[in-house]
Amino acid sequence: MFRCAKPDCSKPLYRMNNETGETILNGRVAHIHPRRRGGPRWKDEMTAEDNRSADNLLLLCEEHAFEIDDT
Ligand SMILES: [Zn+2]
Repeated sequence: MFRCAKPDCSKPLYRMNNETGETILNGRVAHIHPRRRGGPRWKDEMTAEDNRSADNLLLLCEEHAFEIDDT
């Protein structure tokens, strides 16, 4: 089971719909350094390749993914 990468959260990233038994994604991939120039924590020297690498990505629950990408 994947969990939110924020240490004090650890919310599961999938949840089960009790009626249908389907698994629903409850999280998304956030960027530590943003994709767009001028975003939060933008690094001028970072290449597009580094930006897409696993080192720059965090799997977080919905709530924290938006927090990381927007602030
Ligand atoms: Zn979280």
